[in-house]
Amino acid sequence: MKRIALLFVLATLCGAAEPERVDLIIRGGTIYSGTEAPFVGDVAVSGDRVRAVGRRLRLPARRIIDARGLIVAPGFIDPHAHLGAQLASEDARARLIPAFLMQGVTTALIGNDGGGDADVAAVLGSARARPVGINYAAFVGFGAVRRTVIGEADRAPTPDELARMRQLVATGMCQGAVGLSTGLFYAPQSFAATDEVVALAREAGLRGGVYDSHIRDESSYSIGLAAAVDEAIAIGREAQLPVNISHIKALGVDVHGQAPAIIARIEAAQRAGQRITADQYPWSASGTSLAAALVPRWAQDGGRAALLRRFDDASVAERLRSEMAENLRRRGGAESLLITEGPHRGQRLSQVARGADPVAAAIAVIRVSDPSVASFNQTEEDIAAFMRRPWVMTSSDASGGHPRAFGSFARKYAVYVRERNVLSLRDFIERSTALPADTFGIADRGRLRAGAFADIVLFDPRSFAARSTYEEPALLATGVRTVLVNGIVAVDNGAPTGAAAGRGLARTPPAGTCR
Ligand SMILES: [Zn+2]
Repeated sequence: MKRIALLFVLATLCGAAEPERVDLIIRGGTIYSGTEAPFVGDVAVSGDRVRAVGRRLRLPARRIIDARGLIVAPGFIDPHAHLGAQLASEDARARLIPAFLMQGVTTALIGNDGGGDADVAAVLGSARARPVGINYAAFVGFGAVRRTVIGEADRAPTPDELARMRQLVATGMCQGAVGLSTGLFYAPQSFAATDEVVALAREAGLRGGVYDSHIRDESSYSIGLAAAVDEAIAIGREAQLPVNISHIKALGVDVHGQAPAIIARIEAAQRAGQRITADQYPWSASGTSLAAALVPRWAQDGGRAALLRRFDDASVAERLRSEMAENLRRRGGAESLLITEGPHRGQRLSQVARGADPVAAAIAVIRVSDPSVASFNQTEEDIAAFMRRPWVMTSSDASGGHPRAFGSFARKYAVYVRERNVLSLRDFIERSTALPADTFGIADRGRLRAGAFADIVLFDPRSFAARSTYEEPALLATGVRTVLVNGIVAVDNGAPTGAAAGRGLARTPPAGTCR
């Protein structure tokens, strides 16, 4: 009896002294927490959470990952991943998700540019039904909302239509959207006056959301870059919500060199108390479609069928051609447009035209289909000026036919941190993690600290780089060694494991704002 009591005491003592066993320890890497100065140390993971972060963790672990010589950071958050319904597609699972993971991206914001499905519950729920490899949060999209209520028409909503649109935005926010996205550059969203957008943004702001906008004009198409930035700032001020300017840039020869003036406008509004941020992809070419690049908006009223009729309508065809010629000049000429899909893939518009009129060549292409294009239209000076601002995040604006889906985060590090010293490594990491998490209210992510979700990237600072190019846009990045998503190893020894550990992240609206 005495012996049993003694054994019991010993067992109890040992149990108390024995440290908890964790699932994983990442040992000896240089840790960038997302907010603090880097240090060499360990990260312990248990289940889907970070258990501890410290200089030397003495915890038994089921697995130890040697991170010596590697950077250990929170998984990157891409605020403009431009994925929508296709996130759940087989193509996305097989091709796009590895493209994000192999750059260390563990969370993507989808439904950008106004494209986000109004049924946010269905978008977020699809990850529960069939998990994908990265986490995602969703915007309710102005384009989807406007199309649902008034179709493609170029007119203002009636009071009843506006009320229905407001209801759709409110419902999307209550289902967990992070905010309202708009793409005022694109028809039919371009048909909306500022007041209409303010009315809808107010519904998002009331429920804690952000106004995220591909602004009305990034160039000199309509109101001009500066006025379009002013419009976004005014919408945030009047609707009383934070503003994020999507993929900030000075697009085209008429606005090259305007980055300092745009920065000054934004920082003046920040000093006046507004929360304004931007995201940016690190490429001098934007990606759009041939028609979106060249065809004026009035000619797209009524959709594609109406556009094709106007090419043959003698009363408007000449005006249409001359405005397309002006848009081509604005973008830098036929040499600056590279077609990246379809039968002309890999050809500049100048090559398609073969010395003849490039506008006629473009119309001939658009009659058959509307291929995506890489449009070389930004200067490195403007790109660097925006990138240096502490309120500018990293994004991909991932879309087909452009290397940015496969390489934006890796390229920003390799070119703008390592080669050109535009940014420090710490700034690059913080603007790819904590800043987007804070901006969009992504809870418990974007920082490496005890209790946070274990979204973690380990990369080799000597080799982390993009391999994707305009000619070969779908090459995976190099240098990422390990990625955890919710504590599950999604990249191991530099290769995707196929794990589908991502979650649909619903934002919780403030109490009392949703019935
Ligand atoms: Zn956009």
